[in-house]
Amino acid sequence: MKKECIFCKIIKGEIVSSKVYEDRDVLAFLDIQPVNNGHILIIPKKHIELIIDLNDRIVEKMFKIAKKLNQALRKSGLKCQGVNYFLADGEIAMQEVPHVHLHVFPRYNGDGFGLKFPKKYFKLPSRRLLDNSASKIRTNLKRI
Ligand SMILES: [Zn+2]
Repeated sequence: MKKECIFCKIIKGEIVSSKVYEDRDVLAFLDIQPVNNGHILIIPKKHIELIIDLNDRIVEKMFKIAKKLNQALRKSGLKCQGVNYFLADGEIAMQEVPHVHLHVFPRYNGDGFGLKFPKKYFKLPSRRLLDNSASKIRTNLKRI
């Protein structure tokens, strides 16, 4: 557990949070800076920076809880026409707190949230490049 980690402080109750779910492994609470009202963060109770280092059982649990919270959001009466999941694994991927966290937040028409795509996104890659990249990933998947 890192001394200054804001999520660890929330887990320990040193910082208040609006909790929506808790068990011995996982905590889910509302983001204080929500994209939309009802924006949830799901975190493991153990301080782990990257999801690649997180125990598989906890990863599974986080996504199962995310599904339930997705359903709960849709029934909550909060504005919610769809739900986004977002997980940034690493600082370059926009991870701002170095403690694994899965964002689950409601979406609705005109909420102003969006993703910015680079120019290259609009030029489709060749099948050769796709096949080559798929091969590299498959090869390394076998080694994990
Ligand atoms: Zn932490």
